[in-house]
Amino acid sequence: MYLVLSLIFGLSEVNQSFPSFQQRMLLHKEEQYSNRLLVSGDYWDGGHDFDVLDYDIKMTVDIPNDSVWAAVIIKLKTLSDALDTLRLNFHWCFMIDSVKEGARSLSWKPVSMGNFKIALGRDVNENETLLVAVYYHGRPNTSQGGLYVVSEDSPSSVTYTNCEPMGARNWIPCYDLPSDKATFTQRITVPSGNQVVANGVLESSQTSGPWWTYTWREQNPQATYLIAFAASRNFLTRDTFADVNGTHVPMRTWVLAVNDMRDKFNVTPGIVEYFSEIFPPYPFSDQKYDQVHAPIGGAMENTTCTFINTYAGWGEIWDWVIAHELSHDWWGDWLTCATWADIWLNEGFATYCEVLWWEELYGDYGGEEYARYVMNTYLQYGTSHPVYDPDELFGVNSYEKGGSVLHMLRWVLGDSLFFAGLNKYALDNADESVITDDFQNVMEEVSKKDLDWFFDEWIYGSGHPYYRIGWRPAKGSGGKYNVEFAIAQTQDQKMHFFPFVMPLEVAVYSAGHEYIFPFTDSIGYQKFTVEVPSKPDSFRLDPHSKALFQSTQYDDIDSVPYIPTHISENHQGNIPVSLDADGMFSGLLCVSFSQPREASVSLSLFDAAGRKVRPLYSGSSKTYKRFFPLSDLPNGVYFIRLENSQGESVTTKTIKVR
Ligand SMILES: [Zn+2]
Repeated sequence: MYLVLSLIFGLSEVNQSFPSFQQRMLLHKEEQYSNRLLVSGDYWDGGHDFDVLDYDIKMTVDIPNDSVWAAVIIKLKTLSDALDTLRLNFHWCFMIDSVKEGARSLSWKPVSMGNFKIALGRDVNENETLLVAVYYHGRPNTSQGGLYVVSEDSPSSVTYTNCEPMGARNWIPCYDLPSDKATFTQRITVPSGNQVVANGVLESSQTSGPWWTYTWREQNPQATYLIAFAASRNFLTRDTFADVNGTHVPMRTWVLAVNDMRDKFNVTPGIVEYFSEIFPPYPFSDQKYDQVHAPIGGAMENTTCTFINTYAGWGEIWDWVIAHELSHDWWGDWLTCATWADIWLNEGFATYCEVLWWEELYGDYGGEEYARYVMNTYLQYGTSHPVYDPDELFGVNSYEKGGSVLHMLRWVLGDSLFFAGLNKYALDNADESVITDDFQNVMEEVSKKDLDWFFDEWIYGSGHPYYRIGWRPAKGSGGKYNVEFAIAQTQDQKMHFFPFVMPLEVAVYSAGHEYIFPFTDSIGYQKFTVEVPSKPDSFRLDPHSKALFQSTQYDDIDSVPYIPTHISENHQGNIPVSLDADGMFSGLLCVSFSQPREASVSLSLFDAAGRKVRPLYSGSSKTYKRFFPLSDLPNGVYFIRLENSQGESVTTKTIKVR
């Protein structure tokens, strides 16, 4: 245990107040339908044996009549032999006029409200590229997202799309799950006087006559829920740029002339530049970044074209929502959760980017304060459901707990490994869809640490620790003081993971100094003793907001209940070695192994956070048994790992107790 000396912080530099819970909820997308949709029959994920490469959307939006006429050409590659049917998502509010492959008409039929089947009329081979055109018209359904055609009689009228999670099928035929990303073109025709803004780059515009047409092209593959456009006669714009490594990235703000909020977005170039320093450079630097008023429930990170309701009551300072939505262009748009169960890879990351921007503005202390605020939001409003495959798709567990988990991972790995890992994760998976394992694998590769324990408890496990911690100072020798503290994990073990393993810190405050002591909490009950040079005044768990937990603190240690820890399972590998160790020990730990024949192996002891704390044995034996004196180690969970010369290993778990 080592000691870090630092001055207690003076008055807070952070005098901004954080957004209220109601304001935070504006970030959480409207979810009244999304979870219902995910469990309904319309959430069809029977897999698909094709890969959509591109959507070419040609649509006339007759705003006064709330109707559209459209042709969507879907370019796809087949992934199996003898494919004779395409199953696509499309809402049956539309009248399909025809479906064609080239000049050949194809037959189709609806399967359910949000699905239809196209008979290809021939067997198509694997790896064939098809162009299938769907011609349709009608009035868009918007009960579950999609295209909102808004009459033009108000100075705040904007016609817009809003599609996450599965609203794209309500205005275009598509494969509507985020695992299949495609490039796309939007050729949107609207009544004269309307401007249209959309993802990507404006390729052309035709603004004469009664109907105007704008053609926007997105050249990086995107999930369908990110395809977006907005049309209005009422936009007021401002152009600026961000300097990303010498490249001027064009940025335009589109607000309403009657609600000129352009100044609120003056911070955006600085945030683009900051995220481009700590992450790979802004992924769409050769396109643009636009922020567009649309009357949605809050804000939506449509790629290169964030929609934000400028009437939504974000508070005085908009940095947090601007940073959150912008960061999705990395985490959500460039890399996209492949399944909705992995939504935290979008929303937890974007929430943590709010913390990072606050840290950039207000220093380490500002970052700590914002992280604590995010963690408290989860503690107050979250549930004990895991982050992975959450109970509410856009709930507090995906956003605030997901963000808290990243904050803790940064603490566990340290800044340099954490940011190196994030950068590699982004570059390795650019333009792809990702699952949680992709993220864990990269972080393990970069840190050279096994992170199963961390992801098991924080992503796949439920809830959080409830620590009860008590401390007792006692006079030591030479004017020094010993501080004994006991810590127990008292969370309800039916609802919450148990026992959490977590590196933590305690601070002892004495004579105007803060003394920090790191330790790893890993079982139901542990005791530690630390030493400070003068009489302690106070004591605090996690003084710098590194970890997510609830706690109660006592000024004695006897009030901390003893919580037993039972070993329920031992981790094992798959090589033919039998490795045994005491399940629990205090002074001496007995370790033995036997294998079919003599072969060289090494034995090491790791702590619960995966750090090697002691080499135990290295040599060649058929059988082996020894007692190791380990009374100097702190209490907690340890792993004994046996590795052979091929790098294969088996592991078993033990607990050191009082
Ligand atoms: Zn978000």
